[in-house]
Amino acid sequence: MKDLHIYRKIEFATPKKIREAQEKLFKEHLAYCYKNSSYYHSLFKKRKLNFKAITLDNISLLPFTEKKDIEKYNDDFLAVGPKDVVDIVLSSGSTGKPTKISYTEFDLKRLAYNEEQSFLGCGLTSKDTVLLTCTMDRCFVAGLAYFLGVRALGGSTIRNGLNSLESHLEVIKRMRPTAIIGVPSFLRKLGLHLDAQGFLAKKSGILKLVCIGEPLRDKNLKFLKVGEDLEKIWKAKVYSTYSSSEIVSTFCECAAQAGGHLHPDLAIVEIVDDSGRVLPFGETGEVVVTPLRVQGMPLLRFKTGDVSFLIEKTCACGRKSLRLGPILGRKKQMMKVCGTTLYPQAIYSCLEEIAAISEYYITVTSEEELSDNIEIYVAVNNPSCTEKEIQERIQAHLRLRPKIFIIEEELVKEQVYSQNSRKPVRFIDRR
Ligand SMILES: [Zn+2]
Repeated sequence: MKDLHIYRKIEFATPKKIREAQEKLFKEHLAYCYKNSSYYHSLFKKRKLNFKAITLDNISLLPFTEKKDIEKYNDDFLAVGPKDVVDIVLSSGSTGKPTKISYTEFDLKRLAYNEEQSFLGCGLTSKDTVLLTCTMDRCFVAGLAYFLGVRALGGSTIRNGLNSLESHLEVIKRMRPTAIIGVPSFLRKLGLHLDAQGFLAKKSGILKLVCIGEPLRDKNLKFLKVGEDLEKIWKAKVYSTYSSSEIVSTFCECAAQAGGHLHPDLAIVEIVDDSGRVLPFGETGEVVVTPLRVQGMPLLRFKTGDVSFLIEKTCACGRKSLRLGPILGRKKQMMKVCGTTLYPQAIYSCLEEIAAISEYYITVTSEEELSDNIEIYVAVNNPSCTEKEIQERIQAHLRLRPKIFIIEEELVKEQVYSQNSRKPVRFIDRR
């Protein structure tokens, strides 16, 4: 684990140089996993895999690591002694039991470097003051990562976390941040709150919004409604960033806003189909990440459960690194309708565009093997909006005709917000 920063400019190097650097780091990572992770050590032995023979070209010889593996063998993934662990976070598990992810001092430095690279990409500098509207505690890593990243950049942070709209308004008035990091739907609410209080969001001095946790764009990289709204309300540049506790790597959009840049010295990303076959650039499948240079809990070919695609074309910003497209959905939420597949996100986008809809959720049941039954429950703030009208809008966009039910707003809210979740729950899977 040598100096983190030696590959600082690798994103701008030729694809050949990027590949060489990745090959070297991948080899080191494999050797580290074999030597220090009892999970991978025994996996290699059991499968009679010679890690020295694995390269980027035959990476698919390595088995995937899934969330359920980390859940089942959580402590076997730890590659350092307890005295080297400096931070332990919890990540939601596939069966509801959270998994522990442990970081060393080096991992936190790596996290800081990773976020710094991401923030530099979207144009943040040491002159920026960044308001964090995500939590720093509760065993989550995101807030800590952004804090460390802004610090590495030399900027200032305001850690107002999951505070009230009113509190954020006061902070914005007093401390005059130039950027905010937060969940898009919350940032929209916050902007509207500022406007309603007569302190216009567009005149607040916020120039950039870095969005986490929810998608901003569709598969054509066009803004979803929430992205458009944010740009309009704040008159700010809106960027999306993607990460998870396990992959300890972030893919953030640059100024060109055309996918999240991969940092080649920090992660290898593959896209795979249902059978685990690696897909070519541009094709949609599950995102698989091998984070490089991780000490605490190194992983190989981690299946994120998220669906997206890779963009190879050189970016307008000059970086030669691959980019990850927007997250189109969770793999396990994929629905089958009349021979095609779709994710709840596509339906959300449609519903978001109908101004009369104030709240909504979707349920899905499986009646036949080849087709799922989708029902959409909505609350409307305009009595002239009918179920038929909503159904027709969805049919025009997505070529499916789900059943629509207009119900009391309270009932929709009960479903969406009552559960003990970090985010609104709009998808109820009864398959
Ligand atoms: Zn770029």
